[in-house]
Amino acid sequence: MPRVLPLADMDKILSLSKRRGFIFQSSEIYGGLASTWDYGPLGVELKRNVKEAWWRSVVRDRDDMVGLDSAILMHPRVWEASGHVENFSDPLVECRSCHRRFRSDQVESERCPECQGELTEARNFNLMFKTFMGPVEETGQEIYLRPETAQGIFVNFNNVVNATRKKLPFGIGQIGKAFRNEITPGNFTFRTREFEQMEVEFFVKPGTDEEWLHRWVDTRFEWYVSLGIRRENLRLRRHDPDELAHYAKDTYDIEYRFPWGWGELEGIANRTDFDLRRHNEFSGETLTYFDEESKEHYFPYVIEPSGGVDRATLAFWLDSYDEEPDPPTRNGPPGDGQARQTVRVVSHLHRKLAPVTVAVLPLSRNERLLPTARRVYDLLRRSFNTQFDDAQSIGRRYRRQDEIGTPYCVTVDFETLDDQQVTVRDRDTMYQVRLPIAELTTVLQDKLEHGW
Ligand code: ATP
Repeated sequence: MPRVLPLADMDKILSLSKRRGFIFQSSEIYGGLASTWDYGPLGVELKRNVKEAWWRSVVRDRDDMVGLDSAILMHPRVWEASGHVENFSDPLVECRSCHRRFRSDQVESERCPECQGELTEARNFNLMFKTFMGPVEETGQEIYLRPETAQGIFVNFNNVVNATRKKLPFGIGQIGKAFRNEITPGNFTFRTREFEQMEVEFFVKPGTDEEWLHRWVDTRFEWYVSLGIRRENLRLRRHDPDELAHYAKDTYDIEYRFPWGWGELEGIANRTDFDLRRHNEFSGETLTYFDEESKEHYFPYVIEPSGGVDRATLAFWLDSYDEEPDPPTRNGPPGDGQARQTVRVVSHLHRKLAPVTVAVLPLSRNERLLPTARRVYDLLRRSFNTQFDDAQSIGRRYRRQDEIGTPYCVTVDFETLDDQQVTVRDRDTMYQVRLPIAELTTVLQDKLEHGW
C-alpha cells in the first residue's frame, strides 16, 4: 500500500467522489458556489458513520460524558463574552492590481501570489457570518451564525449540571454546523465556510487540567488510528506560545498527512476557565461549580477536543484509497466475462465507517436466483446498511463494491437454491466462506464488531 496519497491522485479522488455519489459541488447546475460541497448518497452515509463512531466513543461509552444539541443562532452577547467579536479575525491583505484577497500569514512574499502585484497593508477581517434576525435589517437586529459549537455548551453549563447532577470531572459533547467566512477556503472539503464540528468541553478541577489535556490528546489520537488511519500519516503538533488562541493555555493539534501536506484534523486545547468566567461576567449568571468534597465554589477548567467532521471524513476517505494489482484468481468467483483490469481500485474504509456494509449480489440476473437473493437482501437490511446489485457481470459488481469500500459481499448462486448457503467475501483479505443464510446476520454482526 502507498504510504501517502500523492497530490496527483487528488483528481482521481475528486472524480470517484462525484461518479459514485460521495461529494458533489454545491449548486453545480448554477456553476457551483465556491468551496461549498454537498454529500451525495454514499457520502452522507460515510459522514453519518463518522459522527456515529465519534458519538459512541466520546458520549455513549463514557460515564463522564453527556450530549447536547444547541441552536446555531445565539444571543449576540455570547460572541462578545467569548471574545469572538474582538479576536476572531485573520489578517487580510489585498492585491492592488487584481484585488484578490489573501491571509497575510499564508503569502510568502510582499507580492501577490497570482499576479505579482503589490499587496496592501494587513487589516483584521472578522470571520463570523453576520445576518439579521426578524423582518428588519438594521443594527441591533444583527446576529451571527456560530463559528464554533463550543459556546452552546458553555452557556448551558448550569442547565446540564442541574439536570444531570454530574460531578467534576465530566464533559459535554456536541456535533453541529459552524460557519466561518474564511478568506482562503480550499483543498476540497478541508477548508470551507460551512462545516460541521464534533466538540467536547470537558470540565475539570483547576490543577488537574494539564493531566486531562494529555489524556484527551491520547484518547483522540488513538480514535483516528482505531478507525483505520495509518499511524505514520498522523502526527501531534503542539502550538507555539505566539500561536495560541486568545482563550488557550496550551494546545495540541492532531494533523493528517494530506496529499498537499500536513493539515489539522482536530485541536485539543486547555481553555482554562476563560469561557465560564467571561459568561459569568457578561450574563450576570453565576457559573461556578460547588465542589461538595472541598466545600468550595470555583470555575472549572476546560479541556476542549474540537474536531471537524468534514476533515475527518476526508482523511478517512483518502487514507483508505488504494490501487492494487488485480490477479484474476483473487477476483471473486469465475464467470466474469469482462476483460480483466490490471488494477483493483479498493477503498479500505474501516468496516464501521463504510457507507455500505453488505452487498447482496446474485450470480446473474437469472429469475431462479432473484427471489432467494431478494430474501437474503430483506433479511440483511434489517441489521446492516445493505445494497442489492444485479446489474452487469459479477466481476464488475465486486469492483464497484470494492471502490466504495463495502466490507462484505454476499453472493447467491445456483447451489444456494439447494443448500441454502451463500458465499461471503471479505474485501481486504479476499477470503471467501460459505455460510447458511440462517447464520448470516449473527456471523456478520460478529465480523463487524471484531473483524474477519
Ligand atoms: P485552521 O487553523 O485549519 O483554520 P482552526 O485551528 O481555526 O483551524 P479550530 O478553531 O480549532 O480550527 O476548529 C476545530 C476544528 O474544526 C478544526 O480542527 C477543523 O477540523 C474544523 N474546522 C475549522 N475550520 C474549518 C473550516 N473552515 N472547514 C472545515 N473544517 C474546519
